[in-house]
Amino acid sequence: MIPKTKDLWVFIETEADGTARNVGIELLGPGRTIADKQGGKLTAVVIGYEADAAVKEADAHGADAIIVVDAPEYKRFTTDAYTKALVTLVEKYGPTSLLIGATPNGRDFAPRVSCRLKTGLTADCTGLDVDEETGNVLWTRPTFGGNLMAQIQCPDHRPQMGTVRPGVFKKAEPVEGHAEIIREDLRVSPEDIRTRVMEVIREADSGKVDLESAEIIVAGGRGVGGPDGFRLIRELADVLGGQVGASRPAVDSGWIPHAHQVGQTGKTVGPKLYIACGISGAIQHTAGIAGSETVIAINSDPDAPIFSVADYGIVGDLFEVIPAMIREIRARKQQEEAEGDQTGKKTASDVPAWVNSEIPVCHIDLTPPKHASQKFSKDLAAFKRRYEAYIRDDFVVSITDNAMAKMAFQGTELIDALGLTVKPENITIHLNTFHQKAELDRILSDMRRLGLKNLLCITGDGSDKMHKLLPEELEAPEAPVATSVELIRYIRRHYPEFRIGCAFNNYEPPESEFAKLERKLEAGASYIITQPVLGKDEQIDRLVREYPDVPVVTEVWMSPKLSLLSDIMEREIPDDYPYDPFETLKEVKKNYPASANYLGMLSYKNQYPELKEMWGKE
Ligand SMILES: Cc1cc2nc3c(=O)[nH]c(=O)nc-3n(C[C@H](O)[C@H](O)[C@H](O)COP(=O)(O)OP(=O)(O)OC[C@H]3O[C@@H](n4cnc5c(N)ncnc54)[C@H](O)[C@@H]3O)c2cc1C
Repeated sequence: MIPKTKDLWVFIETEADGTARNVGIELLGPGRTIADKQGGKLTAVVIGYEADAAVKEADAHGADAIIVVDAPEYKRFTTDAYTKALVTLVEKYGPTSLLIGATPNGRDFAPRVSCRLKTGLTADCTGLDVDEETGNVLWTRPTFGGNLMAQIQCPDHRPQMGTVRPGVFKKAEPVEGHAEIIREDLRVSPEDIRTRVMEVIREADSGKVDLESAEIIVAGGRGVGGPDGFRLIRELADVLGGQVGASRPAVDSGWIPHAHQVGQTGKTVGPKLYIACGISGAIQHTAGIAGSETVIAINSDPDAPIFSVADYGIVGDLFEVIPAMIREIRARKQQEEAEGDQTGKKTASDVPAWVNSEIPVCHIDLTPPKHASQKFSKDLAAFKRRYEAYIRDDFVVSITDNAMAKMAFQGTELIDALGLTVKPENITIHLNTFHQKAELDRILSDMRRLGLKNLLCITGDGSDKMHKLLPEELEAPEAPVATSVELIRYIRRHYPEFRIGCAFNNYEPPESEFAKLERKLEAGASYIITQPVLGKDEQIDRLVREYPDVPVVTEVWMSPKLSLLSDIMEREIPDDYPYDPFETLKEVKKNYPASANYLGMLSYKNQYPELKEMWGKE
């Protein structure tokens, strides 16, 4: 193909929900450097369905132009549809270079695209540059089983094409977008697509393994000795708030799924801290960790090659070294917590990130399906749809716990089971005292494993059928019953990194409610959620006046049905009372401009579009 421009294209791979996969956005950084050196534009190519989120992200990461192909047949990747669309675009516009992420899909269709265009493809690159003299892209990739790095050029054919591994380049900081958006109406008929996705089955726990964006990775190799050894690796990862990686023999032996493999045939990672435990340091492994800021190696063999790439080396038996590290980290965390308690000061890490947002954030409550639901599949699908929409639109999803005293599935188990997107700062897990002790610990350790930190602790109103935590189970034998105060203390003691919100009931007698609030804040709560506010409320006025440093989230009742609200307020409100949820929300925003809002009973179908508009999300 004879190029028509000097432009460089980056293919932005999309997910089925229309968001961009990280690798495409990462490639816009080196794409910009190459495009500038070649004297052309940086163009992002988004192919997907309802992919506005991906377009926005490409725009915010510096693309000069974005070509968008958006139709239902691109919702899920198929080789035929994607190849046809990309080849048609390249033939029409004639770019000089084309970068594609080396994901399973990228690896699948990039060779086909290059064949159709009769050009070369350098697969699986780990480095990119431009030859100053010829202007050719210099593609670097491992070769000979990872023992050599080859530099490849494609001097005679265009476009020059390469796939690049996820995680090799870091996403640039977002900028104000200025891209020209070009929409192409390219359709592929069903007869031209020879494959059909019948069902998507996720490998157990693969949905929550995100090594490419992890800041801390603790990885185990053959030296951990078996699947049990990985418990220790996971425990260290958990106390550090990190993820678990592995070498290939550990994966090949079936000790841990492939999603955890790091290295040439696994993932390329770039964490702040990489701890290699019982890993010898073969080049095929270290090729995947070159982007790590600090590497710590634990190995019993002082001559293990891993020590030559490590910043810190510990020669010793990992089964002795790791437990000692875990003990020390826990002790230091407890000490820091105790010091924090003494000074009474809250550090920035005590409050959720949304507190510092310039525009007050909107939390939306989301009720998981009940155990006893007669229409479970429908409820589950609705939960998933809403969860993903709220997260995508950057609201905070607040997942309730046994709401209205009905046993329901836990937020954490649904995130796991449905493989939902995890954006920790956009998720709050509610936790009440109606749990078995083992279940409580499971929820909390699942939160830690998923990287979730934001909790809302409430005493809760359960029925007699639900087990209530006992004071001694929360290590408070002196307390007459277990309330949110004991729960907060327990969590602060064992999970000091969690940020905990507490409830404030503006319909209770003020003196007892303010006294309760004091105890909750003293126990370690760092923000407050109110009960529904009907525009203005004396108690809330007093709350924001007396606690100016504690973030307050004001609840607004979004259902026009008032009977449940009457129950909460223990006050009769006739159902024909002229109550307008959006007017109330506006009023509350006006009266308490610094507070975030919490929306109970929002109707997804009827009210969510208006809410998005109100928050400028369209
Ligand atoms: C084409 C190709 C692609 C490959 N891709 C990858 C890849 O993507 N990722 C990858 O990892 N490998 C890959 N490999 C395999 C690679 O060559 C190595 O075989 C592998 O990395 C070794 O894994 P390991 O370090 O866990 O095991 P080993 O090399 O067996 O090392 C185990 C280490 O554990 C130490 N040890 C043992 N017991 C203890 C203890 N109790 N305490 C502390 N230390 C202990 C030992 O001293 C030893 O150094 C690839 C190979 C090829 C040919």
